[in-house]
Amino acid sequence: MKFVDLNTQFEVLETDIRAAIDRVLDHCQFIMGPEVGELESLLCDYTKAKHTICCSSGTDALLMSLMAWGVKPGDAVFTTPFTFIATAEMAQLLGATVVFVDVDEKNFNIDPESLARSIEDVKKQGDLKPKVIIPVDLFGLPADYDAIQELADKHNLKVLADGCQGFGGRYKGKAVGLLGDVTVTSFFPAKTLGAYGDGGAVFTDDDELEELIRSIRIHGMGKSQYENVRTGITGRIDTFQAAILICKLKVFDEELKARQRIADTYSKALKDYVHIPVVEAGYQSAWAQYTIRSDRREEIRQHLQKHDVPAVVYYPLPLHRQKVFAQARTINELPVSERLSDTVLSIPIHPYLQPAEQSRIIELIIEVMDS
Ligand SMILES: *Cc1c(COP(=O)(O)O)cnc(C)c1O
Repeated sequence: MKFVDLNTQFEVLETDIRAAIDRVLDHCQFIMGPEVGELESLLCDYTKAKHTICCSSGTDALLMSLMAWGVKPGDAVFTTPFTFIATAEMAQLLGATVVFVDVDEKNFNIDPESLARSIEDVKKQGDLKPKVIIPVDLFGLPADYDAIQELADKHNLKVLADGCQGFGGRYKGKAVGLLGDVTVTSFFPAKTLGAYGDGGAVFTDDDELEELIRSIRIHGMGKSQYENVRTGITGRIDTFQAAILICKLKVFDEELKARQRIADTYSKALKDYVHIPVVEAGYQSAWAQYTIRSDRREEIRQHLQKHDVPAVVYYPLPLHRQKVFAQARTINELPVSERLSDTVLSIPIHPYLQPAEQSRIIELIIEVMDS
């Protein structure tokens, strides 16, 4: 059994994808070819964001957004330790200090109360300038953006929504892409909308920021390619990846429906055995992962593994325990993030998971919990 089944998806889309790749081979505009602009406009239609800037990865999307705001040493960037490393890594790369804030146990996302306390504490300590909050839409579920925005407004902070797992999700009627001052996403192959290599996007309604990020994406270019007005990076998306993503976007809503169906089936079958993911009213998850919690996590994982069912612990070591973040600040204790690392388990969820496969997974988990 596969954790993410890209082979079956390719079988479904093969004719379309091969034709799209052939068109790129015909025009040979491998860098910034016409498909890049086409994808950006399709993603604006999809999310209703005013601007989409496609780029080289979710990590670079985070980096370029922080660069556009001029994040630098002496700035505090608030985020969760219960996420993929890139979320916090790019702030540290720019010399800012990462301040880790605890998450809410029932939805795995940044806890607005813990965030409020940490911002106050950083202000009291007085040596750092609170600058950016990076909420993460972990496992596909948007964070509580209204509560976060209220704190951002109160303390004059920017909100950079890490929607790398959240693309396809919604919060109070808004698509991931419209959340925060900037939303970023990733097109890594295993994400909800995945390419056949690296890719990402930045979404924003802010015209000035759009212009800055487009410039940073190509070496800080000015009006023309060889006029350079600021420090930038090689942050472009590959034309092939854009062409492939255009094909995948056509079936994306169908795939989201399939993910939702599978999640509903898991929740109904497992709710009396393990802690199932909670999706409160007003939220729609993109179901990048289906993550259960149990004190018997290791037994479940081993039993699944024995029967050839892949299950993964995201994330076994919270970021504040990672060596690379020795310089980051943990002002308040992070008990929830630590507990989650010991109890979470992500089980297969992808649009092509067969009913028989899912029944088998459910059966195996119940076997453990009944023993
Ligand atoms: C995948 C991911 C990223 C990084 O995306 P890449 O495209 O792999 O660089 C950042 N944040 C989160 C939460 C992710 O899951």
